[in-house]
Amino acid sequence: MADPKGFLRHPRREWPRRPVGERVKDWDEAYVPGAPLPLIEEQADRCMDCGVPFCHQACPLGNLIPEWNDLVSRADWRAAAERLHATNNFPEFTGRLCPAPCEAGCVLAIDQPAVTIKNVEAAIADRVWADGLAPPVPPERLTGKSVGIVGSGPAGLAAAQQLTRAGHTVVVYERDDRAGGLLRYGIPAFKMAKHHLERRLAQLRAEGTRFRTSTEVGRDIGAAALRSRHDAVVLAVGATAWRELPVPGRELVGVTQAMEYLPQANRVCEGDLGVSPLSAAGRHVVIVGGGDTGADCLGTAVREGAASVTQVDIRALPPTERDETADPWPTYPTVHRVSPAHEEAEALGFGQNPDADARLFAASTLRFSGDAAGRVQAVHLGTVDTRRRPVPGAERVLRADLVLLALGFRGPQVTVGSAVSELGVTVAPDGTVARDGGYATNVPGVYVAGDAGRGQSLVVWAIAEGRAAAAAVDRHLMGSTSLPSPVTAYDGPLRP
Ligand SMILES: Cc1cc2nc3c(=O)[nH]c(=O)nc-3n(C[C@H](O)[C@H](O)[C@H](O)COP(=O)(O)OP(=O)(O)OC[C@H]3O[C@@H](n4cnc5c(N)ncnc54)[C@H](O)[C@@H]3O)c2cc1C
Ligand code: SF4
Repeated sequence: MADPKGFLRHPRREWPRRPVGERVKDWDEAYVPGAPLPLIEEQADRCMDCGVPFCHQACPLGNLIPEWNDLVSRADWRAAAERLHATNNFPEFTGRLCPAPCEAGCVLAIDQPAVTIKNVEAAIADRVWADGLAPPVPPERLTGKSVGIVGSGPAGLAAAQQLTRAGHTVVVYERDDRAGGLLRYGIPAFKMAKHHLERRLAQLRAEGTRFRTSTEVGRDIGAAALRSRHDAVVLAVGATAWRELPVPGRELVGVTQAMEYLPQANRVCEGDLGVSPLSAAGRHVVIVGGGDTGADCLGTAVREGAASVTQVDIRALPPTERDETADPWPTYPTVHRVSPAHEEAEALGFGQNPDADARLFAASTLRFSGDAAGRVQAVHLGTVDTRRRPVPGAERVLRADLVLLALGFRGPQVTVGSAVSELGVTVAPDGTVARDGGYATNVPGVYVAGDAGRGQSLVVWAIAEGRAAAAAVDRHLMGSTSLPSPVTAYDGPLRP
């Protein structure tokens, strides 16, 4: 800790965002490019090095936050980079995408604004690349063992990097034409530019990881062939089976799933398409679902030039401050969060005013209505109480010619022909792949990591699980392992 009174001298100041009017005209990241280094060093100096760092506990990766805050405050970026990579394969991903449960657990946050941990993490990660501190780390010798990884999202990539560096021959199978999972076709470029992903993929390839894209396990390669080619398999297929909304009018043209809509916008950014076939340009858009996927739809629709965008949330408007009874420190509290996409839609008046704000809370979708040609025209909403019970009152109607369903995901695809079904792994009642605490499925030598086993979660959990599953596989293949295992399959976020 360079300055024991840093938190008294400096107020919390976050990495600045570009002006709203500027950033909605492009797909670049919302934040001002380039780490504002004096600001980051000053903010790292706010860390109190508090003896028992709950930030470290709250981070699924067990990131050594006080250590790198200290190093950054003393401008020792090389050592900070080493400590950050000791626990996190892809800090530039989490530094941009993580909801930062560490900050909710920061001891300073008991009665003051938390340290800007996530900003410091992103700044170190970016500095690593700028200074060439992330060279490929190929193994010194090969073990002669081979591992097949199914899925190239953050869980699959973290497992692949750990196992390749441990000397195993690793092949990643990906059904999409490009690797990256939801980092590629899901999360919009304005949240994380794709060059961050490309740089890591190049690093993995240089270390020896092989990628087989446009290859779906279950269709292009059977389970038996996969198992005979490899000594172990890691299923990292994500949770791509989306939840439906079985209300009248669901079949109308223009009512579509968020994950049918977002990848098309990603493809425009990749240069594959000139215009998305589902573009929101000139359309009144209603997003059903108040979560992050819905917010990503919001930011995308605004950039595509929608006439209006309204996000409908069945949950009541959360409080702005932590409820100390329901969500005591250091847990991650339910509070009203305003993402950059929300900020844009509100500032630029994208809601259907005067009928609706850009965000509607405590609203349940009753039905969709359409025109004679079967195209959606309106969303009919009822009001619910905090326990989601209907409240008597007038039905609200929102104009809509594009409705995006962002209601979350049940688990991986388990239909006949899917990787899960072909491999014969047991599916738990909640729709995820069943596993023991050490990521092993019921099929010997087959492990599961990330959303496929945990259910819909976060990038930070996917990386942590990928690292831990790699340790389990290494132990299975070699009898022992020195790879780190930050979380068991049964661990979860800090709870009261
Ligand atoms: C729109 C959206 C936005 C999100 N935003 C955030 C965010 O800001 N921050 C955050 O922390 N989390 C976010 N998440 C959640 C986060 O993206 C996931 O938790 C994370 O990507 C899960 O990683 P994974 O590796 O388990 O699976 P995925 O990233 O889903 O990757 C699974 C991969 O497996 C491939 N695959 C599936 N079946 C097969 C098969 N049979 N053969 C070959 N390949 C196969 C898929 O094509 C996919 O590429 C978001 C999720 C969504 C949907
Ligand atoms: S990965 Fe997430 S929880 Fe961990 S230090 Fe980074 S922002 Fe915090």
